[in-house]
Amino acid sequence: MTLTEKILARASGKAHVAAGDNVWVNVDLLMTHDVCGPGTIGVFKREFGQDAKVWDPKKLVIIPDHYIFTADSMSNRNVDILRDFAREQGLPYFYDVIDDPNGHWHFDPTRGQLKQQYGKNYTGVCHTTLPWKGHTRPGEILFGTDSHTCMAGAFNQFATGIGNTDAGFILGTGKLLIKVPESMRFFLEGEMQPGVMAKDVILHVIGDIGFDGATYRAMQWEGPGVNAMNMDDRMTIANMAIEAGGKNAIFPYDETTGAYVRERVAENGTKSEFEPVELEKDQRFIYDKVFNLSELEPTVACHPDPGQRKLAKEMDVTLDRAYIGSCTGGKTSDFLAFAHVVKGKTVKIDTFGVPATTKVVQELKDTLWDGVSVWSILESAGVRMTENASCAACLGGPVDTFGRMNTALKCISATNRNFPGRMGSKESQVFLASPYTVAASALTGRITDPREYVS
Ligand code: SF4
Repeated sequence: MTLTEKILARASGKAHVAAGDNVWVNVDLLMTHDVCGPGTIGVFKREFGQDAKVWDPKKLVIIPDHYIFTADSMSNRNVDILRDFAREQGLPYFYDVIDDPNGHWHFDPTRGQLKQQYGKNYTGVCHTTLPWKGHTRPGEILFGTDSHTCMAGAFNQFATGIGNTDAGFILGTGKLLIKVPESMRFFLEGEMQPGVMAKDVILHVIGDIGFDGATYRAMQWEGPGVNAMNMDDRMTIANMAIEAGGKNAIFPYDETTGAYVRERVAENGTKSEFEPVELEKDQRFIYDKVFNLSELEPTVACHPDPGQRKLAKEMDVTLDRAYIGSCTGGKTSDFLAFAHVVKGKTVKIDTFGVPATTKVVQELKDTLWDGVSVWSILESAGVRMTENASCAACLGGPVDTFGRMNTALKCISATNRNFPGRMGSKESQVFLASPYTVAASALTGRITDPREYVS
């Protein structure tokens, strides 16, 4: 069996499953957020009763992160609905925007977008919060009401996005019926060259198979190129499985994974036991291809979908804006790569920086280069950095969202999705690239190969 099949077999109590089987799986974790949480709660209450209790409060994680720092009253109200539910159900893992469990969330636009407006429990983007707070465990089943839930596949976990109806059903039962996907193998060899990042790897692969090339399939990553990657790199790749239509991404378990998970479950007091699934010799793939990382170059996914692959060096596109942030491109390592390129220079176009989590904000402020914080280095280069970690303009959001493209602008972005209207106006265009390429392009105002800036 493939890694995905092994996890689904175990979770359904079967010795063996094969692609195409429909199985009931026991859910280890359900995650929801402010956009889909209220709808999920509505389904749950309608189907299981107004006084129903969730199947296991410790297996539900609620993370407000999407439409948070906006004066839009309906969006603010969504966070209040989550808080009421968390209080009613006694949920231990609700990462609230404010500290008062009986309070109401209101974003105050008069205080501006840049300075912190959240309490001590707030974390930021859900997919980056899950591993940080010790909720990702190898061998487990994670469902989330968000398509990029597949990011947790980096941790040898079966993780995928579902809709509100399925999530409401899980709240009541802790189970879900799922069809076992076919598996595709992406075998990575060689070493990434300077200036090339994990983001280039996944953009290259999606360009290869197309933005529907993995529809309802498991994307399994293997090989020495994978073994050499840190967890941030694996997360970047797993995050974008859905941009090829993938059901999930899955990585083998190794000591890099184990050390990362053990440290975070210990830090947060979350469940420490887990049972990874190991690679078997006998695996069946519907697709199997070797990629040589040393041959990859800085890559861009052009408007209007993530499969529109071009090399940065071949492009001649004038830009209006650059954006670094999101679960894919807003991790500390992403900002450090970006800062490496812009340090001591000035960006030429409007450039927005949105850390994925509040921990990333702290790490960028605490990391000193030549006695200066990386946060200050970014600000000095002209990057508009906000402390309000969230999804922000990655998916557009209400019109007052930080970095949102309200007109027909062209933006190079470290995010993961670029369908028309994704970051705001339907007339805008989004070009997806690595933090290095976004940074180099911010400096020149054109899509730029970053290799001359990266030593
Ligand atoms: S940062 Fe973007 S891709 Fe990630 S969860 Fe938020 S909206 Fe979705």
